[in-house]
Amino acid sequence: MRSLGELMASEDGLSLLETRGILTSEESFVGSLLPPPDGRLAEHVGVAPSQALVYAAHQLMTDYPESVSAKLRAARQIAGRPDVSAVLLWLDMDRAGADKMAGGSVLRGRGGILKMRLATRRHDEKEVRFVPVDPEHLDETVRKIEAWARQHGPAGGRLVQMAEMLRGVSPRTLAEANMAVTSYLLRDHLEMTAPFVLVSDLADRGFLTGTLNDVVSAIDDVVIVFNAATDSLLAADVDPQVHQLRPDYLPLHYSCDRDDRRCSLSRVRSGVDTFAVTRCACGAFYRFHLGSRSLSVGEVAATGRWSTDVTLPIYLNDLASGIVAGRSSAMYGMVLNEVLEKVLGRRPVPMLLPPDLPGVLAARAETESLLQRYVMGS
Ligand SMILES: [Zn+2]
Repeated sequence: MRSLGELMASEDGLSLLETRGILTSEESFVGSLLPPPDGRLAEHVGVAPSQALVYAAHQLMTDYPESVSAKLRAARQIAGRPDVSAVLLWLDMDRAGADKMAGGSVLRGRGGILKMRLATRRHDEKEVRFVPVDPEHLDETVRKIEAWARQHGPAGGRLVQMAEMLRGVSPRTLAEANMAVTSYLLRDHLEMTAPFVLVSDLADRGFLTGTLNDVVSAIDDVVIVFNAATDSLLAADVDPQVHQLRPDYLPLHYSCDRDDRRCSLSRVRSGVDTFAVTRCACGAFYRFHLGSRSLSVGEVAATGRWSTDVTLPIYLNDLASGIVAGRSSAMYGMVLNEVLEKVLGRRPVPMLLPPDLPGVLAARAETESLLQRYVMGS
C-alpha cells in the first residue's frame, strides 16, 4: 500500500491526489479558494464574508506529533496571505483513548524520561470533554513536571511556567486541560494568532446539523458511495484509513448518561419510523427518533451528548473555503469528497497538504513532539 509520503513523491501519486481535491502547491490552493457558501463560521470567528476561510482541525490533545505541527505551521503560513484567514478547529468529541497523546505525553531530557498524564487511562472510552481531571492527580503531575524541569536550566524554566499556568487554570475536564496546554504552546512556541473553536461548540450552535440531516436522510446512498470510494482507493494501492460502513451505519455517537462511555448509534427501522439506537457496555439502552420520510438528528442533537465520527469534514465543508489537511485526514478526505459530490451535490472545498509533510514523514520525526520541541527550544 502506498503511503502519503510515497504519493507525494511521485508524479502519478500527485495527480491521483489532485484529481481527488488534494493539492500540494500553496499557490494553486490559494487560487482555488472561494468564500464559504455558509458564512456562519466566518461570522462566529470575526472573519469578513469576502475573505477566504481555511481551517485546520485536529483532536484536542495534551501534545502533538510533528506531523500535526506541520499542519499548524501550514495554516499559519496560509493565514499570512492577503484575503485569507485561518481558524483552528479542536475536536473535543473524540475518545480519550483514540491517541496516546490525548491525555499526556512522554518527554526525554537530562532528567531521564518524564511521563506526564493529565488524566488516567481508565477514562479512555470517554470523549475528552467528559473525562474528569482529578485536582490531586493534576497537582501531583505538576510537581513531577517541576522536579524534572529543574534539571534542564532555562529550557526547564519554560516547562515550569507551563505547568504553573495549568495549575492556575484548575481544569475540570481533560478538554479544558488540553485546551490550556495547546493554546499556551501555540502562542508561545508556534506564535500562532489564528482564532480557534471547539467542535462541540459548533455542534451546540447547530452549525453541523443541516448537512448532518442531509447525510442521515440519504444514508443508504452515503454508505454505497463511501464504500465504493474506499474500494477504489484500495484498488489504486492507497490505504483510505477508514473501514467499510455497515448497512445500519449512522455517523453518530452518544455518550452514556450513567458512565459517559462513547457509544456508536446504529439505525433501526420500525414500521415507517427510523430510530438511532445503542446499548452501552453498562447495559443502558438509548433510542432516538430520527423521523419517517426525511430524517432529522434533532432529538439526538438536543441532548448535547452526541458526537459525529470521521465524516466530520462533510458537515464543515460549506462553512469553509478550504482545509489544511493532515496525514490521515487527506486520505479519508478523498472518500468524503466523493460523498459530498455524488450524494449531496456539493462542491468539496480544496485541501492543502503541508509542504514539509513528506520530509516530516520520511524523517520519522513523529517522536519529536510539539511539547518536546518547546522544552528543548528547537
Ligand atoms: Zn453506560
